[in-house]
Amino acid sequence: LMQLSIPLNFIGFVYREIRQGLTDIEAMFDLLEVEEEVKDQPNAPDLVVKEGTIKFDSVDFRYDHDRPILKNVSFEVPAGKTVAIVGPSGAGKSTISRLLFRFYDIQGGSITIDGQDLREVDQSSLRAAIGMVPQDTVLFNESIAYNVRYGRMSATEEEVRQAADRAQIGDFIERLPQGFATQVGERGLKLSGGEKQRVAIARTLLKAPPILILDEATSALDTQTEQEIKAALDIVSENRTTVVIAHRLSTVIDADEIIVLRTGEIAERGTHQDLLKMGGLYSAMWDRQREASEAEQALRDAQARD
Ligand code: ATP
Repeated sequence: LMQLSIPLNFIGFVYREIRQGLTDIEAMFDLLEVEEEVKDQPNAPDLVVKEGTIKFDSVDFRYDHDRPILKNVSFEVPAGKTVAIVGPSGAGKSTISRLLFRFYDIQGGSITIDGQDLREVDQSSLRAAIGMVPQDTVLFNESIAYNVRYGRMSATEEEVRQAADRAQIGDFIERLPQGFATQVGERGLKLSGGEKQRVAIARTLLKAPPILILDEATSALDTQTEQEIKAALDIVSENRTTVVIAHRLSTVIDADEIIVLRTGEIAERGTHQDLLKMGGLYSAMWDRQREASEAEQALRDAQARD
């Protein structure tokens, strides 16, 4: 019986592995299906970014035909400027970044970059022009140098080091026993959310795309980390057309314009000061977040005293 049970276990193991493999392939097809939804026109020309002005003009969008997500959304991000999108959870903020990459086609209106409709340009040229600093960066099971260099594989060691410094992660890396050769990822050093985000910023500095999307982390960070990340984000977005998808409000204060989305519609727009004066949705969100972060800080101070 012993002799038999081992091979059976082994077959079970192989079977599970194969099933696992199949599920992954299915998941992959799901992704491909999303990609399939948008097709390039035959001989679509490459996107040519001269200035990097983004324009959403009366955009209507729905994922499913019976549920509108964005309704008549119009805004412009002038070349080199920063526009922040804020609003309650589910308002459609991340949808805007997906539409910029043209993961989906819109049902009404148009999205253009320097006057070129996203539906009329080659998708890979569009995606090459946009850099994304996501909420949660995927790290490879490789050295930290490799993970930074991923932004531009041809970057020299010196360029990698400089990008890390400008992203405020250089000192942290130098202090690791093996420095830039330290292995990270699942089987190596685990980085915190804030550290990973700075690696993503360093990558983006190397890629140097004309257009940038920052997806601000949802999770609360301590004040020190938050300031370091803000400094790194300021550097990476300087003179670059930037859309900030803000789940919290800490990085939006200096934005040239803030768009407040509510259930897919623009409810308010203006600078931080304009919106506070308005005393509407934005100022209510601001008050609530300030109270929450003050409470958090008080809790930290109390813990530090213990
Ligand atoms: P949060 O701040 O919570 O991240 P958000 O403002 O970024 O929210 P979106 O992710 O843009 O919100 O989602 C807007 C709406 O679209 C939500 O109601 C969501 O359920 C829906 N939605 C998002 N992705 C899909 C999808 N792939 N298929 C169908 N509906 C979706």
